[in-house]
Amino acid sequence: MTAARHVEHGSNAAPAADACDIVVVGGGLVGASLALALAPRWRVRVVEARPAPQVAPGALSQGPWDERCIAVNDGSRRIFEDLGLWPALRGQAQAIRATQISERGRFGVARFTAAEAGLDALGWNIPVRVLGLAAWQALQAAKVKISSATQVLNVQPEREATVVELATPAGTTRIRARLVVAADGAHSTVREKLGVGAEVRRYGQHAIVTAVRIARPHGGVAYERFTREGPLAVLPKAADACSLVQTVPDARCEALMALDDAAYLIQAQAVFGGRLGRFTALGRRVPHALERVVSASVIAPRAAFVGNAAQSLHPVAAQGFNLGLRDAGNLAALLAQATDPGAGALLERFMAIRQADRAAASDFTDLLARVFANRVPGLAQTRHWGLVGAQLVPAVHRRLLHQHLGHLGLPAGE
Ligand SMILES: Cc1cc2nc3c(=O)[nH]c(=O)nc-3n(C[C@H](O)[C@H](O)[C@H](O)COP(=O)(O)OP(=O)(O)OC[C@H]3O[C@@H](n4cnc5c(N)ncnc54)[C@H](O)[C@@H]3O)c2cc1C
Repeated sequence: MTAARHVEHGSNAAPAADACDIVVVGGGLVGASLALALAPRWRVRVVEARPAPQVAPGALSQGPWDERCIAVNDGSRRIFEDLGLWPALRGQAQAIRATQISERGRFGVARFTAAEAGLDALGWNIPVRVLGLAAWQALQAAKVKISSATQVLNVQPEREATVVELATPAGTTRIRARLVVAADGAHSTVREKLGVGAEVRRYGQHAIVTAVRIARPHGGVAYERFTREGPLAVLPKAADACSLVQTVPDARCEALMALDDAAYLIQAQAVFGGRLGRFTALGRRVPHALERVVSASVIAPRAAFVGNAAQSLHPVAAQGFNLGLRDAGNLAALLAQATDPGAGALLERFMAIRQADRAAASDFTDLLARVFANRVPGLAQTRHWGLVGAQLVPAVHRRLLHQHLGHLGLPAGE
């Protein structure tokens, strides 16, 4: 907004809003990926609350992203290929060649391999900062306008456009866009300002995310071990290291965070067992409170919700980002054909396309989180036979394998 324009509209008029076709609120992993997909066709603007990363040329160590790794499935890898991001990620991504799911104290084990799916890898474990930086640099190369350190304050849909009010380091301003996409996370401001409700349920659990150095080669195997306290995931990272995600009840989290590194390693080893030899060193521990947040709708007038703004899941099945990327992929595919990006019919179509995939992934994840956290007598036996069935019943095994690969919710034709 310029001062000259302000005078043109008279001294009492509100400042004229900057215009673009689509404003993506939230430059996290999903929002940045979506903006990249839209950039060749539309005037896109990304609004991100965090400051821009200060990145030395060629360095991958800076940026506002967290320390986690994220397991992406084969469906997400295909989307990264389409976005041109995969070459930048491949060198930093650890292939997951098999997954092994077991329950502490019981013999049932379900095992899925890339070979049985006819693939090189079931998925890849990628540091979040590597993903974030690759997307960020690609946005800059595509000349997408990014407003960093800028928060959305309000959103007002009108007939032909939506006006988004922003708090920037220089003061408040407004953007007018034909579509606003909320990619601003589980507690989306856009969702709230548009008056769309959400189901919020806390699991009473925290996931402690860290990394361990291991004594034996991991061979690209990812382990998910269900315990009485919650699941423990050990995912291959570098040659001699794994990501470790330990889910525990809230009260136990405090006690585990208070341990020194040596004591924490000993308890983690006791839960996981000796498959990878001794855990020899520990990374920084970061606790995440776990909740399920499911938006009542993924559309509103001239607005669409993607990623965690649409649904935020328990991490037990490593589905959240993969699902969010499919939201973005479906929306980008619809917008590639559109003339008005915020047209009601297009948004209705987006909601219809996303319905089954969102419901299946959210419900499957929630079921897994609750069944394996429950100590009700008799349920342990059911869980045990569930794992055995997942391994031995071909139809169940195939279905779970496809869920794993992320091939169930890809846009039609994939
Ligand atoms: C412990 C843990 C492990 C996980 N592991 C996996 C895994 O292995 N595989 C997987 O698929 N998923 C995993 N997930 C889920 C995954 O992390 C999320 O689904 C994914 O990061 C969501 O990305 P997003 O871009 O939608 O949201 P976010 O990452 O929350 O990004 C939202 C962005 O919006 C910005 N923002 C917020 N409010 C505003 C505002 N008012 N104005 C402007 N900007 C705003 C924020 O700064 C942020 O950058 C895991 C989650 C947890 C907690």
